[in-house]
Amino acid sequence: GMPVCECNTCFGGPDCSQISPDCPADVDSGNPLFLEPFWMQNAASGALLVSGWHRMSYSYNDHSSVSGELEKHIRKLHSIVGNAVTEGRFIVFGTGSTQLLNAAVHSLSLANLSSRAGVVTTKPFYPAYKTQTDFFRSVDYKFLGDTSMWKNSTDGNVSIIEFVTSPNNPDGLLKQAVVKGPHAKAINDHAYLWPHYTAIPAPADEDLMIFTLSKLTGHAGSRFGWALIKDEAVYDAMSTYASQNSFGVSHDTQLVALKLLKFVVQGKGREIFDFGFETMRNRWEILSKTLSVTSRFSIQEIEPQYCSFYQKVRDPSPAYAWFKCEREEDEDCYTVLRAAGIITRAGTLFGADSRYVRLSLIKTQDDFDLLIRKLNILVSEEDGAK
Ligand code: PMP
Repeated sequence: GMPVCECNTCFGGPDCSQISPDCPADVDSGNPLFLEPFWMQNAASGALLVSGWHRMSYSYNDHSSVSGELEKHIRKLHSIVGNAVTEGRFIVFGTGSTQLLNAAVHSLSLANLSSRAGVVTTKPFYPAYKTQTDFFRSVDYKFLGDTSMWKNSTDGNVSIIEFVTSPNNPDGLLKQAVVKGPHAKAINDHAYLWPHYTAIPAPADEDLMIFTLSKLTGHAGSRFGWALIKDEAVYDAMSTYASQNSFGVSHDTQLVALKLLKFVVQGKGREIFDFGFETMRNRWEILSKTLSVTSRFSIQEIEPQYCSFYQKVRDPSPAYAWFKCEREEDEDCYTVLRAAGIITRAGTLFGADSRYVRLSLIKTQDDFDLLIRKLNILVSEEDGAK
């Protein structure tokens, strides 16, 4: 007879293709599973086998040059994509970029020990900048909130460390530091500065830039990030942090990263970026079309922009939709969407108004399809009510 298929809880029918109407669309997290089909198509290129007796020693006294090879491939990758200058930069590896975010705050705060450094960022911002900085309760730094208060006040003795996310999570816009002055330093978080998500206008050339494998290849669970650092003292401090905190990034992680980057670099990035860009642009187009019939909701506007990687003007393809409930009575947008079976991330977590929520567009195709289904129902109910 027919093979019995085990569907996950949200699907039914003989071939698991029918989505249960009660199942919510969960577009909360930034889990980059849209890249899973790419690695299925390139199964052998991403696969790795490590014998039990290999790479047993601590990674800090690894003389087998995995880290050297990995560093070379990172530099090669940036030169192919044209998204960051690596000449004259030191590289530090991290357990995801998450570890490097605090390593950077710590290291920049050491330069000015006379007073506690203030950590700031521009709204709407990636929530971990606040939650992580608060969590560590350091005597050397403190989260002070939005940059608006600090734009013109760096002439005093408060030193400011600014998180700049470009393109930004949640709204996908390209950003630059806004706090200027002798006591201002920036941590440029470029997690999404890849052709999947944005036009690459020119190579980023800042003093401290942070990247992650998570949003490049989608291997968020491998926990690998890297920082490009101009200043040697900052490099030393970040290396010390990584060594004190975790004794370095695991060999296994470095091998996975090297295997994946070799494949990316070998095809000059074309394969993965074409896949990533096509997928994300397609999703953005479908979402935009779905919402074009209503004035009740809106999403951010991103203009087509010249991309030096594709050498042409290209359409937007952001990782997230920064979604707004426009109606007077819909001031709690999270609850409005939750009632319609859509789980989002509340705008208040990003330092913004409760009229905003973030929709993740980088999860699986099923997650995205279910989101569009639920939005179509929500938008058509509204027509019926008129
Ligand atoms: N920065 C930004 C802006 C992010 O969105 C994320 C992941 N959501 C990170 C850093 C951290 O990613 P990871 O630790 O996986 O490198």
